[in-house]
Amino acid sequence: MHILVVEDEKKLGLALKDGLESECYEVTLAHTGEEGFFLLNSGSFDLVVLDLMLPGRDGLEILATIRKRGLRIPVLILTARDAIEDRVSGLDAGADDYLVKPFAFPELLARIRALLRRGGAGQPSRLKCSDLELDPVTRAVTRSGQSLDLTPREFELLEYLMRHQGRVVSREMLARDVWNEPSRHSPLDNVIDVHIARLRRKVDDQFDKKLVQTVRGVGFVLREEVP
Ligand code: CA
Repeated sequence: MHILVVEDEKKLGLALKDGLESECYEVTLAHTGEEGFFLLNSGSFDLVVLDLMLPGRDGLEILATIRKRGLRIPVLILTARDAIEDRVSGLDAGADDYLVKPFAFPELLARIRALLRRGGAGQPSRLKCSDLELDPVTRAVTRSGQSLDLTPREFELLEYLMRHQGRVVSREMLARDVWNEPSRHSPLDNVIDVHIARLRRKVDDQFDKKLVQTVRGVGFVLREEVP
């Protein structure tokens, strides 16, 4: 998932970039409205985080222009102006959601996930974490372009981890959502661990960057290993 962040406050822009990258999103940062507009027209992004108050071409102007051109990409606007008129004009101009500054980063992540889940029309549905890609429609899984052969259960397990990437997934969640076994005392833990071990062998063994991480005593998380 490639996110364009258009934010003129350098510190905030960099913090957003770092935070989103650690959640396995690919991030391009633009510091001016002009730059953001240029990138939007030349690159392919899955979502835009757009500050409204920008020097030069401001966020609303950019938003109105890209919508006029038929670009359906999800847009989340950031605004320090919390006056109700500004929110309304942002939504009128074609924003999908907005956050008022200052905001909590987990809140931003939740909004981004919701927008990406909803998806824009014609957006690719492929899931990506680093060089690992999964297509829920064709059920193809590749790492560094190399096709991985997964069993149906391993596929479901990986799809679940990819949809929750960057977040810790407990064995309880996996039992409930992947094995459809809601009982808290189900003897599934060993089964889950065996499947995780097999998945890890296929996804990570031949590669330097490990993606399937164990969080001791809690569960698992899919993300690039923090050295
Ligand atoms: Ca600004």
